[in-house]
Amino acid sequence: MEGRSVKVGAGSTAAHGRYNPAGPCAPQQRNYFATIQALSNMQITRRLEFDAGHRIPNHQSQCRHLHGHRYALEVTLSGGVIDASDRPDDGMVMDFSEVKALAKRHVVDLWDHAFLVWSGDQLVAEFLAGIPNHKTVVLERVPTAENLARLAFAILDPLYRNNYGNLLRLERVRLYETPNCWADAYRADKA
Ligand SMILES: [Zn+2]
Repeated sequence: MEGRSVKVGAGSTAAHGRYNPAGPCAPQQRNYFATIQALSNMQITRRLEFDAGHRIPNHQSQCRHLHGHRYALEVTLSGGVIDASDRPDDGMVMDFSEVKALAKRHVVDLWDHAFLVWSGDQLVAEFLAGIPNHKTVVLERVPTAENLARLAFAILDPLYRNNYGNLLRLERVRLYETPNCWADAYRADKA
């Protein structure tokens, strides 16, 4: 007894490859493969968030007051996609968990729930220094989104280099001060 009663003509079969698993899919797969090979160098981004206080002492509006933000840090790396089926990072530029771990250890853990104060803001810097065990980060420049982004870039740049032999490098650090305001720090030789 026939299991299927539907008969599909030759022309129809060619137009709908799913009815003929041995045939029409193969050319399309070759095209996808060529595209994948051409996209061997890619960018990946990992986002981390933290809370911190700051103020911009010379600012003319609200930012001169002591206040805080829910910051977001986005770390963008470029590199070759690792094509090695015997490696745990096969198919990746870098494991997202490792991207996160470095940014967390060297930036986010230091700044989270800290007050970020400019060393030239003596009034606040001295006040914070007088609070026992207060988590304070003293910066050489005013803690704007721009300065925090380029400081994070400077800290992270050497950490993401040459770890995997796939030309991995830090391309950009984006620092969100609010959901609507952010600053991008790019590497100096990008131009
Ligand atoms: Zn602010």
